[in-house]
Amino acid sequence: MENSENIPNSCDVVVIGGGPAGSHAATLLAQRGYEVVLLEKARHPRPMVGESLIPHFWKFMDMSGATPKIEAAGFLPKAGGITVWNGRIHQFSFSAFGYDRPALHVERDVFDHELLKHAASQGAAVFEEVNVTGVDFSDEKPVVSYHSMQDEARGAGQIQCRYVIDASGNNTVLAKQFKSRKLVAGKRTFLGMWGYFTGGNYVGVDGSSYGPESVGKVPPVTFISSHDDGWAWHIQLRDKISVGLIINTSNVKRMGKKEMETYFLSTVQKIPYFKELLEPATYVEDSMAFRPDYSFYSTQPAGPNFGCIGDAGAFVDPIFSHGCQAAFYSASVCAWAVEASFRRPDRAENYGRVLQKRLQQHYGFSRSLALGDYGGDGVDPALVIDLMKSMPLVELEMMLVASDISNRSTNFHEMAKQAGIMEADFVNGVMAGKASVLDTLHV
Ligand SMILES: Cc1cc2nc3c(=O)[nH]c(=O)nc-3n(C[C@H](O)[C@H](O)[C@H](O)COP(=O)(O)OP(=O)(O)OC[C@H]3O[C@@H](n4cnc5c(N)ncnc54)[C@H](O)[C@@H]3O)c2cc1C
Repeated sequence: MENSENIPNSCDVVVIGGGPAGSHAATLLAQRGYEVVLLEKARHPRPMVGESLIPHFWKFMDMSGATPKIEAAGFLPKAGGITVWNGRIHQFSFSAFGYDRPALHVERDVFDHELLKHAASQGAAVFEEVNVTGVDFSDEKPVVSYHSMQDEARGAGQIQCRYVIDASGNNTVLAKQFKSRKLVAGKRTFLGMWGYFTGGNYVGVDGSSYGPESVGKVPPVTFISSHDDGWAWHIQLRDKISVGLIINTSNVKRMGKKEMETYFLSTVQKIPYFKELLEPATYVEDSMAFRPDYSFYSTQPAGPNFGCIGDAGAFVDPIFSHGCQAAFYSASVCAWAVEASFRRPDRAENYGRVLQKRLQQHYGFSRSLALGDYGGDGVDPALVIDLMKSMPLVELEMMLVASDISNRSTNFHEMAKQAGIMEADFVNGVMAGKASVLDTLHV
């Protein structure tokens, strides 16, 4: 996306990063008439992992007006999830929960690019290949420093603004600057690694496998399997398959990229059912990538004139495909906090505190769900229970059912009970949406 304008010296809001969180926040604020400058380090479309979206992401697309563009992009609808966890097979289908729009498997480079273009179309000034290097908060108005990586004429520069939104993802620009980035105790030893295959088989919601000729005719499920010290995913996209492993970092310690790739390719063959699914597949050369720091959060995610949203505020094991959902949610709440503070600058401190609580609350929910944590180390169970009381029942129902598929759900169910949520409360009934236990898969 070309922007021939010069980066301005001042604006209302600077957004650092143009992933789902940054684009969504920039869109909402530009639509409300604020001057928004979004600085993105990469040039989109840029590669990104995290291709499985859960159906409630649509409400955020409706909110930003991006729905027609995402529909037109033609991503692959998915039918549900199947997991093989410690040998036990669970299956659930989104249709059982009454969703009228499908969940999707998306190529993230395309999806994120659509959202970034949407932000620009709504009035945000988007500049790509611009790296934000830090923010000076010593003045009442923050000053954002950047370096243009592509355009020498733009070079290094600064923008003064009223509010900074850090949506820099795993790079966590502000958390690093504040030294507030904290790895979740006991989880620092894990990393995610992934790669892409073409021509393989995939699993449908009936537990049967389908070949590449069925893509676009029979919707896939997100297929998850536990293994000796982590779990693995298989996500069918339109013309390739994303396969990933969450593993103990010690397994690949001191390995170079080539060795890691060899490790990756041999390990995926040992995961239950993956060997069969990938039998006819071809590995896309050099597509293996990895990311350490598998679960972290910032202890200072918001203040009167800044908010850290999406992964820049917190990141949790992606087992329930909750990352993009969390990015959109935190961006929406942050946009609310920005507008509220601009309207009532005398209450900006207060809105900063509200935003911080909301971010911590949603993070606590994601982490309780994904890791089974109950309290301490960044998770306040009382906040999570409050969120459970207020969220749409269909969303909570789906998450409760989804949590059953791993062995990490006991605390999550306990919190739901404390929130006064009983199975009888559900519109569709947990029984309707319940994951079924299958004897075998036909792959
Ligand atoms: C292994 C793995 C699997 C995952 N699977 C899923 C999944 O199936 N479903 C799901 O929903 N989520 C998944 N996630 C999580 C999901 O990918 C993230 O939660 C999501 O991308 C967060 O969006 P974001 O906008 O916060 O950050 P990002 O998407 O990371 O975007 C951040 C942007 O900021 C830019 N940036 C960084 N530093 C700077 C800087 N200094 N200056 C300017 N720009 C900068 C980057 O270039 C990038 O474009 C997964 C994550 C991992 C690691």
